[in-house]
Amino acid sequence: MLSKTLEKALNDQVNKEYYSAFLYLSMSSYFESVNLLGMAAWMRTQYEEEVMHAIKIFDMIADMEGKVELKSVEAPPVKFESPLDVFTKTLEHERKVTGMINDIYSLAREENNYAVQSALQWFIDEQVEEEKSALEVVQQLKMIGDETTPLLMLDNKLGSRELEPGA
Ligand code: MG
Repeated sequence: MLSKTLEKALNDQVNKEYYSAFLYLSMSSYFESVNLLGMAAWMRTQYEEEVMHAIKIFDMIADMEGKVELKSVEAPPVKFESPLDVFTKTLEHERKVTGMINDIYSLAREENNYAVQSALQWFIDEQVEEEKSALEVVQQLKMIGDETTPLLMLDNKLGSRELEPGA
């Protein structure tokens, strides 16, 4: 069972996960436009992961007898300055998402809803990974600065990322 408050919070989160998906797809398109195809592929994988997150919460609502209410998704930005700009925004965005997940978890705790707390545990762990991987790229891009060769090496490395099952 879900209270109306938790049902709304989870529905909002479904929408935010789809926004995340759109954001990363937009970033993927930016990387395609500047021919950093490894980073474009990385962002495409990120997009697919976010769609899975949305569906995971969608299922959570339905499994707990809640009502899913899909809303229109906000348009993501389309202009980006540089790879560093993109990954800095990725990190900022993921930190924001972590805050949202934490807020829903706090709500579930106040309401003594153990099922939601348990289901959200996966997302809490996932956010640690999301922040870690974005921060790693931000720091490496800062080290690289304006040099082309290491940028292309990093692009190559990021292009080999595979979609993690269940992520
Ligand atoms: Mg997510």
